[in-house]
Amino acid sequence: APLDKIRNFSIIAHIDHGKSTLADRLIQHTGGLTAREMSEQVLDNMEIERERGITIKAQTVRLDYKGHVLNLMDTPGHVDFAYEVSRSLAACEGALLVVDAAQGVEAQTLANVYQSIEHDHEIIPVINKVDLPAAEPERVKQQIEDIIGISTEHAVLASAKSGLGIEAVLDAIVALIPPPKGDATAPLKAMLVDSWYDPYLGVVILVRVIDGSLRKGQEITFMAQGTKHLVDRVGCFRPKIEQLDALGPGEIGFITAQIKEVAQTNVGDTITDTKKPTTTALPGFKTVQPVVFCGLFPTDAADFEKLRDSLGKLRLNDASFSFETESSAALGFGFRCGFLGLLHLEIIQERLTREYDLDLITTAPSVVYKLLLRDGTSKELHNPADMPDPSTIELIEEPWIEATIFVPDEYLGSLLKLCQDRRGIQKNLTYVGGRAQIVYELPLNEVVFDFYDRLKSISRGYASFDYHQIGHREGDLVKMTIMVNSEVVDALSMIVHRDAAEARGRHMCERMKDLIPRHLFKIPVQAAIGGKVIARETIAAMRKDVTAKCYGGDISRKKKLLDKQKEGKKRMRQYGNVDIPQEAFIAALRMG
Ligand code: GDP
Ligand code: MG
Repeated sequence: APLDKIRNFSIIAHIDHGKSTLADRLIQHTGGLTAREMSEQVLDNMEIERERGITIKAQTVRLDYKGHVLNLMDTPGHVDFAYEVSRSLAACEGALLVVDAAQGVEAQTLANVYQSIEHDHEIIPVINKVDLPAAEPERVKQQIEDIIGISTEHAVLASAKSGLGIEAVLDAIVALIPPPKGDATAPLKAMLVDSWYDPYLGVVILVRVIDGSLRKGQEITFMAQGTKHLVDRVGCFRPKIEQLDALGPGEIGFITAQIKEVAQTNVGDTITDTKKPTTTALPGFKTVQPVVFCGLFPTDAADFEKLRDSLGKLRLNDASFSFETESSAALGFGFRCGFLGLLHLEIIQERLTREYDLDLITTAPSVVYKLLLRDGTSKELHNPADMPDPSTIELIEEPWIEATIFVPDEYLGSLLKLCQDRRGIQKNLTYVGGRAQIVYELPLNEVVFDFYDRLKSISRGYASFDYHQIGHREGDLVKMTIMVNSEVVDALSMIVHRDAAEARGRHMCERMKDLIPRHLFKIPVQAAIGGKVIARETIAAMRKDVTAKCYGGDISRKKKLLDKQKEGKKRMRQYGNVDIPQEAFIAALRMG
């Protein structure tokens, strides 16, 4: 299509404000799918996405509207996938800012809209759900002006559910979002926006062409990766696949080039023509680094290979998580895995359980610490078990975040206390229409455990939360180990702030005491820093043998009891001469 007939836009919103519903409605209205083909929320196609109502992988659809080609990019709404949001936004010239007319501006609305502003987007506010009795579109408009600071002169009132305002949204896109710029005669320059593995097509690459054109049969080079490929398909999604001869400047579409693995395609890379290459690559190329690590161990040691296989399959479609083998005396063989954040961790864990039928033990999530050692070298720490001897450490740095929280006034006090307890530093506190907007700097370490759950329970679900990383800072951090019967249980080691160590240690010992069954001998459970014990509990010895009450005679009953005991043992981890039930690991790691 000629440049002036193209509009590229994304939809940004806080979770549940109606982004997917609106996207579906736009597709339906422009005839991308017949009513019969229109199943609810076509853009969220993974089962977990549907259930949780979140979009993980961004999807793109080409729409025809009044002689224009509109490319809609759905973006993930969650912070864990901020980089996916960012590169989708980089491929567009504008954005629809969807805000729930009853809820108003929330934390993720803000985080996403700031990214959009950074990309110089034309932003069209869409006040959605105006059909709700609680809708207050005028108030929400005012909020958008006050909190975000953008004009609502062209805001559209809509109901993605009833279809109200959909035509107005499409007209606003055509009228307000600027067409892309580009040079059809220049050498090919295209951005690799996203890639995923498709069982029929192999790796599919989503591209935004800047200059030149992409054609079937063309030999292309990935500039950062330095690899060459032959393009074998070019097309777009409507949302069904449509093959095209070429993609020109300003256009968004996909290519396939017989690539076997997603890992061979770096998101943000510049694609050019091998024979007639561009001289300047696109800026902003960056690899995503996992920020949260944890160990995943099969409950049944025999499942180790199956777990490896399943992780490999998941990685085919998600190059942002990493895994490598790890062995633990308590948990046997498993994998140390890296994730973009806690939701990412949960999603992978859930998919392993649900789609691959694996029973797993997850160790405490840990952030990435930077160590400066006395010998002048530095080291990144992904696993508390790998912490070197404290006497060799000069200093430890931990990652910090800046969190933005919206909370109704009545819960503000408890929320401030939560942030304070988590070593937070208050940066800002403002009131907007019965709600407080607070900005805190917090150590990521204090957020990864259960911050989000606590935030939701304190505010009865009304608080919203978003964050971004702001770099590493020095901290007074120590490695705390848990010892059962004087042996260190490596899977329970964690890095904690010195001031919080004692309380945390006491809590862990109390938990373990309740969770480990009595044995024939006394078992001390201790928390220690270095060689110093900071908390201690004792599990008393069992008084009787289970078979003692069977009075000699009844052999079969005795055997049954012993079998039952053996069965119970299978679900335990033998640790030295102590059996620790698996539930103990999971429960002990949960903060009270
Ligand atoms: P997303 O998380 O932003 O993609 O939100 P969804 O599109 O999944 O919508 C979240 C919920 O709001 C769903 O239950 C939708 O049916 C509902 N919803 C979306 N748009 C509207 C609307 O205009 N009116 C009403 N009443 N509900 C809506
Ligand atoms: Mg959605």
